[in-house]
Amino acid sequence: MPTSHTSTVLANGRIVDGRGAVFTGYVAFEGAHIQAVGEGEPAGAAARSGARVVDLGGRTVLPGLIDCHVHLSMDALAAPVALDTPQAQLVGLMTASKNALASLGSGLTTVRDCGTPGGIDFALRQAAADGLCVTPRLVLSGRALCMTGGHGWQLLGVEVDGADAARRAARAQLKAGADNVKLIATGGILTQGTEIGSPQLTVDEMRAAVEEAHKAGKIAAAHAHGAQGIKNAAVAGVDSVEHGYFVDAEGIALMLEHGTTLVATSAAVRNVVRQGTAAGIPAHSVAKAQSAIDAHVAGFKAAHKAGVRLAMGTDSGVPFTHHGNNLDELVYLVEMGLTPMEAILVATRDSAAMLKLDGRVGTLEADKLADLVVVDGDPLTDIAVLRDPQRIRRVVLNGRTVVDRDASRFVVGSAFAGALAGGAAEVVAG
Ligand SMILES: [Zn+2]
Repeated sequence: MPTSHTSTVLANGRIVDGRGAVFTGYVAFEGAHIQAVGEGEPAGAAARSGARVVDLGGRTVLPGLIDCHVHLSMDALAAPVALDTPQAQLVGLMTASKNALASLGSGLTTVRDCGTPGGIDFALRQAAADGLCVTPRLVLSGRALCMTGGHGWQLLGVEVDGADAARRAARAQLKAGADNVKLIATGGILTQGTEIGSPQLTVDEMRAAVEEAHKAGKIAAAHAHGAQGIKNAAVAGVDSVEHGYFVDAEGIALMLEHGTTLVATSAAVRNVVRQGTAAGIPAHSVAKAQSAIDAHVAGFKAAHKAGVRLAMGTDSGVPFTHHGNNLDELVYLVEMGLTPMEAILVATRDSAAMLKLDGRVGTLEADKLADLVVVDGDPLTDIAVLRDPQRIRRVVLNGRTVVDRDASRFVVGSAFAGALAGGAAEVVAG
């Protein structure tokens, strides 16, 4: 079928297709979509003259990776600053733009932001649509819903008490453009005066918000550390439990019963413990992280063994969990018992499914969107190759090559490129 697009064929690659297979072959894409994926030499439409063929020399091709828990406007500072003035929010937007680029550069083609104040996340999406910046595909939450004085109230929360208030706040976030309703089911590590084991929003409050999200065709996620809060969130019907550090056997059973996905954010707790008060992290936060880390590892292993659905998330933006280092999480997942192939499936196919994007992204298959990553090395023998952004040689988003380290080329927003280069769509950096 003739079109105005030139097709691109990535040939001679180690194809990890996000469906559990690995083979030597090719991926062909045209416009925004994958045309064909196959073994051996390009065949059929992928072999026709005029296609741009790139010989990968045995490098690995993966589906674009997905981080289901980031905060783009937060910059991994030891103690996060409140973005509660117009000036701070404008700087927060530029911070978010920079962090979105760092995410792309490390191989992420989709991120879910799990709570951002001031409309910064929605403004970022608008700016990207206007050509002012380039971002991964964004799944956004707006503000998180917390109880009065609950975790996150100073940084990114909207305080709600009672099911009607939760319903109204969920509707307000959806009206503003949220794709995900973020709920706070327990206290948190970063919020002084909250206990991580203590339940916060009630089942009734969360259920009302989840109903609104699902009615609108959207999803809902609950921050939950303590065992009771995890159970409350599962019973309320959230799509994902975030962190889940103190999950117990009953919580695992409820997550299995309700089909709840665990987004473990191992990076976040490890980085707070590793850096500690010496790096300037408040003592109350360090103490809470220290109290959680062993339970987190044990709970994660038990949940995985029991067959709880998993998706990848890092909480990038919290202290010392830097945007661009997101794929550290894959190393931790392997340390906690997943095979490298399982970890990759969690960060591609399974994360896409939790985000309800699996009809469009998450695997390398004909007719899906061309979101893919070319990696120098074999992550199936050494998952750690993925944590090194220098090994992420090429990132393709919606069929557009947005990162090409071999050419020292990163795509910037078309509007910026126009300002700098008189209408060129790309600016060559480095
Ligand atoms: Zn978070």
